[in-house]
Amino acid sequence: MDQNYDVVVLGAGAAGLMAAFIAGKRGRKVLVIEKSNKVGKKILMSGGGRCNFTNELVESENFLSGNAHFCKSALSRFTSRDFVNLVEKHEIEYEIRKKNQFFCIGSSKDILSMLLRECELAGVHIQTDTEIKNVGNEPSKTGISDKSRAPFLIKGLSEMRCSSRHVKIRCDSLIIATGALSIPTLGGSGYGYDIAEQFDLSVTKKFAGLVPFMFSEPLKSVFSRLSGIATLIEVESNGCFFEESMLFTHRGLSGPAMLQISNYWNPGDELKINLIPESDIGEELIEMKKQSDKRLIRSYLNKYLPRALVLELQSLWWPDLSEVPIIQINSNMLRNLGEKFNIWRLKPSGTEGYRTAEVTVGGVNTDDISSQTMEAKKHRGLYFVGEVLDVTGQLGGFNFQWAWASGHAAGLVA
Ligand SMILES: Cc1cc2nc3c(=O)[nH]c(=O)nc-3n(C[C@H](O)[C@H](O)[C@H](O)COP(=O)(O)OP(=O)(O)OC[C@H]3O[C@@H](n4cnc5c(N)ncnc54)[C@H](O)[C@@H]3O)c2cc1C
Repeated sequence: MDQNYDVVVLGAGAAGLMAAFIAGKRGRKVLVIEKSNKVGKKILMSGGGRCNFTNELVESENFLSGNAHFCKSALSRFTSRDFVNLVEKHEIEYEIRKKNQFFCIGSSKDILSMLLRECELAGVHIQTDTEIKNVGNEPSKTGISDKSRAPFLIKGLSEMRCSSRHVKIRCDSLIIATGALSIPTLGGSGYGYDIAEQFDLSVTKKFAGLVPFMFSEPLKSVFSRLSGIATLIEVESNGCFFEESMLFTHRGLSGPAMLQISNYWNPGDELKINLIPESDIGEELIEMKKQSDKRLIRSYLNKYLPRALVLELQSLWWPDLSEVPIIQINSNMLRNLGEKFNIWRLKPSGTEGYRTAEVTVGGVNTDDISSQTMEAKKHRGLYFVGEVLDVTGQLGGFNFQWAWASGHAAGLVA
């Protein structure tokens, strides 16, 4: 079956739906093609079911990219306030957590319903269960090859009510919004990178981001025994710092602090964890010795850290001194022990990878893309938006803000 559209968007996620209704509102005839049976699966799962849809303070520093300036233009033309205005227009209740992170009060479904309503109002067609077989430019009728101007021709297979039919779609503008590799069960795919390479665009090195860390024995067992316990820490790797909560899991370490730092960590690197960022523990222990404190080290630490964690650390770091009062311990030993609390050096064996990662760091090289429009510099009419690009946000609503802003930039011109 042959169809003609002005704009075809591949991928009905955050960036694709945004781009689609912005283009539709300009009077463009828009089709969104989605490979899976449902649209917006990641939106539904996001923010623990409450979608952290944006952040009040969005700066280019909140993003990782080969070109730190690339994201600025789109983010300044569609701001978090613009998205919040849309949310308010649809009367979606929201709350602001941790001073600047916007979450739905109801559920993530509210955000997806809002995007679908906007698509409906803009006359956007959405076709799910469709597998793209081939994307290319229509051969020129004049015989002169001018790939940078010819319409796109998309061939695919659509599964409808237990039967499949071949589809052939022509369009002037093609927006790639297929997301990235994280969580394949939620639609994660590398298809956008394949298309980029097919059209001679480069793709940077990619790795799983916003992802928990794994450890080998003996730490794996220690962390597993502490599974479910969280504590506020500061973590550093490669000169980047985050002060957030850390969660012990059966596999290793997770929680916002670990997810954040994973974007800046390379295999083999150390993590430096300050378990008690507010105090210099070495100094405090020595001061207590001077004051003839007869408490045990673990009794003193219980005011800072969960009891179970203190007991595990005691077995690791001061098993022979576990029953010795602070007053009787050598000052150097107290200082060395204190330092461990303030700089715990850990080497993860790896991360949990794309299976659980919230994002993929890296993607289509921004050198090949216009920062104003998201159009490929070498190929007119071809656009890349959202996570498929080499722009990765920190935790806190930044990834969705990038999806909205880049989708908006492309939707305005595609
Ligand atoms: C569990 C989880 C929680 C998250 N929570 C948050 C949060 O609270 N706040 C935040 O800012 N970010 C969050 N993120 C990150 C955020 O979801 C993504 O950055 C964002 O969804 C990227 O939008 P996108 O449109 O580029 O890609 P996606 O939302 O992944 O959409 C891509 C779409 O393309 C489809 N697709 C893939 N391949 C093809 C193909 N070949 N043909 C057709 N369709 C295809 C996919 O099925 C999918 O529907 C979370 C991520 C995860 C995994």
